[in-house]
Amino acid sequence: MSVDIDTVVVGAGVVGLAVARALAMSGREVILVEAGEGIGIGISSRNSEVIHAGIYYPEGSLKARLCVEGRQRLYAYCDERGVSHQRLGKLIVATDETQHAALQRLLEQGRRNGVDDLQWLDAGQARALEPALSCVAALWSPSTGIVDSHGLMLALQGDAEAHGASLVFHTPLLSARCTEQGFELQMGGAEPMTLSCRELINCAGLSAPEVASRIAGLPAHHVPKARLCKGSYFSFSGRAPFRRLVYPAPESAGLGVHMTLDLGGQARFGPDVEWVDTVDYRVDPARADGFYQAIRRYWPGLPDHSLQPAYSGIRPKISEPNEPAADFRISGPSEHGLPGLVNLFGIESPGLTSCLALAERVMEQLA
Ligand SMILES: Cc1cc2nc3c(=O)[nH]c(=O)nc-3n(C[C@H](O)[C@H](O)[C@H](O)COP(=O)(O)OP(=O)(O)OC[C@H]3O[C@@H](n4cnc5c(N)ncnc54)[C@H](O)[C@@H]3O)c2cc1C
Repeated sequence: MSVDIDTVVVGAGVVGLAVARALAMSGREVILVEAGEGIGIGISSRNSEVIHAGIYYPEGSLKARLCVEGRQRLYAYCDERGVSHQRLGKLIVATDETQHAALQRLLEQGRRNGVDDLQWLDAGQARALEPALSCVAALWSPSTGIVDSHGLMLALQGDAEAHGASLVFHTPLLSARCTEQGFELQMGGAEPMTLSCRELINCAGLSAPEVASRIAGLPAHHVPKARLCKGSYFSFSGRAPFRRLVYPAPESAGLGVHMTLDLGGQARFGPDVEWVDTVDYRVDPARADGFYQAIRRYWPGLPDHSLQPAYSGIRPKISEPNEPAADFRISGPSEHGLPGLVNLFGIESPGLTSCLALAERVMEQLA
């Protein structure tokens, strides 16, 4: 079977859904193909669900710009579409004097990135907000929040479908080749088929580099090596110790084992950092030791035996463990020269926060 369509989007995570929505709203005929059985079965349902302010990322990077822009767009979108969210605010804490300078650098970094509401708190001011907290200083970020990521994805899906997009599940993209008009795609699943399209947007998350490597005509040097970096979470069954999100000073490949709240007010801690070779979402209970140690630096009152293994997610890294985290890579025609093709690589945190801004950048690449 052969179908002609304007645009095929690969992957129904939060990014693919936001991209399909934007493209459908621009008047294109869009099919979103997903290998799994539904929306959000990948990274998008295995994260902290935090709406980040945009503090940590190097000035001028896509992460910095799209996080700040995406956060503003996301709050407005959640208000407009009734997606559950809460602007709880977050404290980033220095737990000893050696972290003072790191916190100061974060404050300056955040301000350079356009996060203009950050406040420096001394230990007393921080404890006035959160009495259980132990720290020597803290940064207060009032515009950080939490969002119901599944509710967000459902709203994006609803908009995309209302503008004519079709979602097809159990339909992996197996391979593609460039043609004069665009792309010919081999689709697998129960009813394998060939699709032809003008534009192809690869939002396959962890599999984005692998999907790109199966596009005949795309030179290999435009495809980064995928690296998997797992983050496990533990839940805390008692009453949450804090009312705001609490983060330590960041670690190399992640933001440190932080405490976030879900929309029901339940506390969870994570994610830690573990470089892995395969996707295995089981949480090793033995990792709890590292969690008790990390959490007690800012919450000495954490009781013994109070953490339970919860879930894990895997960061789609495109940098090596010993390198600084790579920026988002939106690889479009201006990079590889193939009209109509956009690959999204390395869409780790703050990808959820940035989804609407990422979709705008994809549109610009196609213009
Ligand atoms: C531990 C962790 C914590 C995080 N915390 C936050 C946070 O608090 N705030 C924030 O802003 N961001 C956070 N992020 C980042 C955020 O979750 C991601 O950036 C975002 O979810 C990526 O979405 P995606 O659509 O690119 O990928 P995914 O959600 O993984 O979607 C990709 C989809 O593509 C499909 N697919 C794969 N191969 C194929 C194929 N060949 N054919 C068809 N379909 C295919 C997959 O099945 C999957 O459904 C976190 C990430 C991690 C790992």
